[in-house]
Amino acid sequence: MGKKYIPLSVPNFEGNERKYVDDAVDQGWVSTGGAYITQLEKQIAEFINAEDVAACQSGTSAIHLSLVEAGVKPGDIVLVPPLTFIAAVNPVRYQFAAPVFIDCDDSFCMDPDKLKEFCEQQCEYKDGGLYYNQKHVKAIIVVHVFGNMADMVSIMDIAQKYNITVIEDATEALGTKYIEGPLAGKYAGTIGDFGAFSFNGNKIITTGGGGAVTSRHSKLVSHIRYLSTQAKDDVHYYIHNEVGYNYRMTNVQAAIGVAQMEMLGEYINRKQNNYEQYKKLFDGFDLAKLVGFRDGTSSNKWFYSLEINRDKIKASMRDIIRLLDERGIQTRAIWGLINEQIPYLNDISYKIEKAAYYAERILNIPSSTQITTDEVEYVASQVKEVLEGLAN
Ligand SMILES: *Cc1c(COP(=O)(O)O)cnc(C)c1O
Repeated sequence: MGKKYIPLSVPNFEGNERKYVDDAVDQGWVSTGGAYITQLEKQIAEFINAEDVAACQSGTSAIHLSLVEAGVKPGDIVLVPPLTFIAAVNPVRYQFAAPVFIDCDDSFCMDPDKLKEFCEQQCEYKDGGLYYNQKHVKAIIVVHVFGNMADMVSIMDIAQKYNITVIEDATEALGTKYIEGPLAGKYAGTIGDFGAFSFNGNKIITTGGGGAVTSRHSKLVSHIRYLSTQAKDDVHYYIHNEVGYNYRMTNVQAAIGVAQMEMLGEYINRKQNNYEQYKKLFDGFDLAKLVGFRDGTSSNKWFYSLEINRDKIKASMRDIIRLLDERGIQTRAIWGLINEQIPYLNDISYKIEKAAYYAERILNIPSSTQITTDEVEYVASQVKEVLEGLAN
């Protein structure tokens, strides 16, 4: 029996990628200068309705540059989530600042109630700044997990009250936006002070590796672009007045990105439609439920999550994943909690409950933009069979 294999999330190059890459190579513009970079920046800015966007080398560098630009210094505190990809937190350490882990809510994104409680009960507000153990709580990194918008209305309220910079890790949420409420029309990444995007291979669009930064304060984006290109003040005589980084995107990556951006609207549609199909297929299934997205938002629906019913299924996530893999379906567990990883064991965690709860229950199922309706149906039927076989 020829078994098909359905991957979790793979890149899609059905657009003009080859044409634009050939063009960049033919012109010899392959490095950190070239017209595709500026074109990509313009496309992203238009899509998310931002004034300016700087393309960079990765989502990680986008977050790092945001922290640098926010003035996060050694000894400062940055509030971060425990349940996400570790790249959202590592840049805090690049600045020799300390993370404090704040729990998530049922959207897997930062819980505004616990954030507020931490600020109110554990910190002191003086001289226009919030302090925890005499250390300045300088910034919050909010991750829009799996393309789901965090509760930005509440988070921005708290951040403004305590004068904390908000960095949105929108690496998974390009195209996610509010459609109702006070932030209606606003895209993920354009609500806080800074927004970071990633174009890694598994994201909704890819440049192989790559990222972008935007800011509500558009002048800061020019400075970020300057920092990302070694802070060159005079191109011909190599004058540098600040410490810069080699964080700029290359023109070859941007050539792929321009083609990918042409398809972004289409890819979001497909992700949304496939989600609806999964939703119907899992409706009423009591061993696992498809997790929803925040009301009042339109999500890019980048990743689909099943919440396993742990009252009925005791099998480990490893076993579930292995059994599905044997049936040709690639799935994934949600991340291991960052506060439990070796580099972060000595950092402060504040009431991590939901993150631990979901870490044991969430299974991500195939969500590539190429997946067919037949494949979605096949995945759902196989997942159901495997879970039924494990139920007690
Ligand atoms: C992908 C991702 C990043 C990092 O992006 P890279 O481009 O791989 O550096 C950061 N945070 C989250 C939540 C991500 O999913």
